[in-house]
Amino acid sequence: MDIDFSPQDRAFQQEVRAWFKTHTPADLKRKTVTGEMLQKDDIVQWQRRLDAQGWLVTGWPKEHGGPGWTPTQRYIFDLERAAASLSMGVIMLGPVLIAFGTPEQKAQYLPRIRRCDDWWCQGYSEPGAGSDLASLKTTAVADGDDYIVNGSKIWTTYAHWATHMFCLVRTSSTGKKQGGISFLLIEMDRAGIEVKPIVSIDGEHHLNQVFFTDVRVPRKNLVGREGQGWDIAKYLLTHERTSIAGVADCKAHLANLYAAADERRSGGRPLAEDGAMRLKLARAEIELMALEYTNFRVLAATAAGKAPGPESSLLKTMGTAVQQTLSELDVEIAAEMAWPWHEGGELGHGRYAHAMPRYCFSRAATIYGGSDEVQKNVLAKMLLAGGAR
Ligand SMILES: Cc1cc2nc3c(=O)[nH]c(=O)nc-3n(C[C@H](O)[C@H](O)[C@H](O)COP(=O)(O)OP(=O)(O)OC[C@H]3O[C@@H](n4cnc5c(N)ncnc54)[C@H](O)[C@@H]3O)c2cc1C
Repeated sequence: MDIDFSPQDRAFQQEVRAWFKTHTPADLKRKTVTGEMLQKDDIVQWQRRLDAQGWLVTGWPKEHGGPGWTPTQRYIFDLERAAASLSMGVIMLGPVLIAFGTPEQKAQYLPRIRRCDDWWCQGYSEPGAGSDLASLKTTAVADGDDYIVNGSKIWTTYAHWATHMFCLVRTSSTGKKQGGISFLLIEMDRAGIEVKPIVSIDGEHHLNQVFFTDVRVPRKNLVGREGQGWDIAKYLLTHERTSIAGVADCKAHLANLYAAADERRSGGRPLAEDGAMRLKLARAEIELMALEYTNFRVLAATAAGKAPGPESSLLKTMGTAVQQTLSELDVEIAAEMAWPWHEGGELGHGRYAHAMPRYCFSRAATIYGGSDEVQKNVLAKMLLAGGAR
């Protein structure tokens, strides 16, 4: 594995860096630094700006609007981007449709994902089917040209913003439970869909429970074959887990922590000069470096034409551990400033105002996209029990 960037890669890095410097909206930069929750409009406007530059769907093949970059260029791009995560349509559904969709589905949905005309949410988890996803009970029963969908999905991120959901449904209850699952695309404005908010520990509304009562969905919205949903879901999850690792975002976060430690004072000196704090920051940096090198290994594998495999579980557990360490340091550095208070209708304490909510919400990182314990089971089975590549 060669981890030195080539002269071409370095030139590419300069180009991308310069573009982001001048084109990232100031509001987005501020929210990224402080950890303030991004609103739908923040993400949509930002994605449209990236798309206009041809830089939104960097993981998609060229014929569907991707820039045709090498995995290393994509990595460099992510490092420099480090502002605002991208929508589930771009990261998860796009690759799935490209791999499993019909020509009509590709033509209908992919351009709309790129233009952000549609907002997609992920309907996998149900009450009673999270880690044990194959136990899901939401049914889709064929009726003429439609399926009739009944059941409920939970923890559905941004369902209240969504125009569409990609959903796992049960089309058969006989045989192996994984074999009865199908992957269905559902418009959120169909009769019989109800979205109820769930407010999370940070006081924000990210999550929802979605109820389906006799919802008619055209059978042409099925992706792949009936019963192929489990394979499609697994394919999608490897993309989700690799992106959750968030090396680039962690690097930007760490840089902000160093800046904050320079700004905050302890015993009359910058906190950055405090021995104990320096040790903690150095440890976090070392963990992040280890994460980055693991990411390089995945990069080297994808550059050699292999799909992300069990390493995506490794990246997910390591990446979320680093994210949680960084958000703990946020609160420690902010100290009394971490407690948010209102100042003329705005949250007070500037760059520190969102430290505590961010810390609280980051607890969820080791749950979503597959819990830590379950990822470790996957790793044990695939890497330790002789399944390693
Ligand atoms: C912030 C957030 C956003 C989310 N967004 C979405 C979304 O957009 N769409 C969606 O479909 N889902 C979403 N989820 C749901 C997420 O995928 C599930 O929460 C996750 O899969 C865990 O399932 P569960 O909550 O039912 O917990 P459970 O599966 O009930 O697990 C409870 C505990 O038991 C442990 N456990 C379970 N099974 C095992 C095992 N075999 N071995 C060892 N330990 C085990 C788990 O690690 C966990 O600690 C989101 C969750 C959160 C917190």
